Amino acid sequence: MHELSLAQGLLSTALAAVERHNADNPENRALRIQEIECELGLISCVEPQTLTGCFELFAEGTPAEGAALTLRTVPLGCACSVCGHTFKLTQRRFVCPQCGSEEIHFNGGHGLMLVALRVESEEQDHARIH
Ligand SMILES: [Zn+2]
Repeated sequence: MHELSLAQGLLSTALAAVERHNADNPENRALRIQEIECELGLISCVEPQTLTGCFELFAEGTPAEGAALTLRTVPLGCACSVCGHTFKLTQRRFVCPQCGSEEIHFNGGHGLMLVALRVESEEQDHARIH
């Protein structure tokens, strides 16, 4: 199940980002991750519910426990080999909208990318935890 390794990768990327943030902002450390915003490639074949479930499992006991995953599918840039038309696909229907050809090519569209993190930090409640 490839959601498992994706969830694991996502979690370690998010935790590393928090660690970096905390090293840079020792006065306002992030305590908890509230939301993780991600972009999903159109042909990543990820089942969002499975990914979320795996993530929740791995996140238990870390600062990412209880964080919400927001997944957004990004359009895939394509080019038609027959008429040369370039377009963006937003659903997995690989047909040129101009000439109807199925001979289209594209790059990428596989990955899962972390875009942004929303964290709860010390500043908000003035708590100091050492
Ligand atoms: Zn075409």
